[in-house]
Amino acid sequence: MGQKESMSPPPFDSDPFDCLKRNFTEEELKKCFRHFDSTNQGSWSHDDFQRFLKELFSNKRQPYFLLTELVEQYFQETDFNQDNRIDFDEFQQAWKETLKTTLKPVSALVIVDVQNDFISGTLALHSCPANHQGEEVVPVINRVLRNVRFDVVAYTYDWHPHNHISFYENRYLREIDPESKVSADEAKLLDSLIFVGPPRVEQVLWPAHCVQDTRGAALHKDLILVDNAIHVFKGANPNVDSYSAFWDNMKLAKTTLDEQLKERNVTDVYVVGLATDICVSATAMHSLEHNYRTVLIEDACRGVDAKEIEVKRLELNRHGCIFVDSNVVPGMVDGIDRRPELTRNIFKENLNNIRLKKNIPNER
Ligand SMILES: [Zn+2]
Repeated sequence: MGQKESMSPPPFDSDPFDCLKRNFTEEELKKCFRHFDSTNQGSWSHDDFQRFLKELFSNKRQPYFLLTELVEQYFQETDFNQDNRIDFDEFQQAWKETLKTTLKPVSALVIVDVQNDFISGTLALHSCPANHQGEEVVPVINRVLRNVRFDVVAYTYDWHPHNHISFYENRYLREIDPESKVSADEAKLLDSLIFVGPPRVEQVLWPAHCVQDTRGAALHKDLILVDNAIHVFKGANPNVDSYSAFWDNMKLAKTTLDEQLKERNVTDVYVVGLATDICVSATAMHSLEHNYRTVLIEDACRGVDAKEIEVKRLELNRHGCIFVDSNVVPGMVDGIDRRPELTRNIFKENLNNIRLKKNIPNER
């Protein structure tokens, strides 16, 4: 071990954020700040800042690619007094929460609708256009549950009454809006009808499925059930369907999921289950809306329609959701594999909060 720090520090042998992972005191933050202060001036240059970002957004010491414009943007946003240096206060206020979440995320696994009807029952995915096998998600999810240290696990259930609006069999129960493209007589499975309501809704017609307290609504028998999990039941209102585990399709009513995740200080939501292009993507989209860093584990999802899966993928991606394979999830949850694209939204959010507190106008 050298006695003196050299002017240009060598690459770190170990993760320079290790101490922060254990302990988020001001002292540890200062230590981290000094680590990247190559000229011991008490503030960072652009190069120091870039080195910090490269070490932060890395996986097992391998930095992720960062666009120069993004580095520059982060620098400008962090440099509140615009003196072209980042001092400790600026670093601390802009990065405290963001750093914490990047290094020590609180992660929830949300397991969407792994129910018999979607696997072997009335709405089995193997009969849908994409021809997926729903049961293939079960061993993948079980492996994730065994190998990953999630702080919270939630199971969601599609949970319909007999007279539910989404059932093809119930298409004559409600008045159809004249603007509906097809009539109840003409409608085929997977067509959409517009019902007069209230509320007026456009609804895809699915075969009757996941009726409350039936075998079809039960979770697959091989899916591991963990203790102290959250259980969310959705779609119980006969007149409004609910794809997302956060809100119904009309956003009239919220489930308890968000509240329960917030109670447990969750920062990151990993979504898996059935079906990718319907309930999984709707849940992921609302998770982003609620400001969770959101990850979709692709090999732990199966869907209805291949084209629609791609559409939803692009849309989610645009909003900041990332798509990963289950084998990288342990590193992400442990704060070792730190993805830059997950931090973008939360960084923006933190800066806005700082600006609000300090009354600094947001020119952007
Ligand atoms: Zn349903």
